[in-house]
Amino acid sequence: MSTFFKEYFGNIWTAIRTVAKGMSVTFLAFLKTNGLRKVRGGYNYGSGTVTISYPEVKDPLPSISRNRLFMHEEGCISCNQCAVICPVECITIESRKKNSDENPDAKTPAHFGNKPLKLKLMRFDIDEALCCFCGLCTEVCPTECLVHTTEFEYSKYDRDHLVYDYLKFKDENPLPK
Ligand code: SF4
Ligand code: SF4
Repeated sequence: MSTFFKEYFGNIWTAIRTVAKGMSVTFLAFLKTNGLRKVRGGYNYGSGTVTISYPEVKDPLPSISRNRLFMHEEGCISCNQCAVICPVECITIESRKKNSDENPDAKTPAHFGNKPLKLKLMRFDIDEALCCFCGLCTEVCPTECLVHTTEFEYSKYDRDHLVYDYLKFKDENPLPK
């Protein structure tokens, strides 16, 4: 057989072999989704369903997922650590010393560590359009009042509407963990 025919039929064979290899992956996935066995821990796709009717149906997010932030005002001691560590500087905090009639001996509630509330928090904004969800701010927060939530559906038409004022945000609590 001439070199030309060897190469010609060799190419055909290569095409058939690679398509068969690709289709075998598809076929195995098809078998997996039709009740032969479970795929991925925690998700039983044995019924044959591989997609969900989002947004009517939603997969639960793992509790450690990092989505929209939420700050519990009653736990914040205005220490500024979250703003300092934020790599994109999207947290803005303003506070002032308390007046004598503002209970200088107040403490955060027990579940926020009973920390002294010496300063009065005047502003606490996070620009979620800039946030990269690194989680550093929640890690350093000494009272754990700043948390990531599982809320991810908060897109806006206007970027400015992604600046959250957490002193006015109580009624829109985005499902804190
Ligand atoms: S998650 Fe990261 S980027 Fe977002 S506010 Fe916190 S420190 Fe900044
Ligand atoms: S680190 Fe926590 S306590 Fe300190 S300012 Fe930020 S949210 Fe408040």
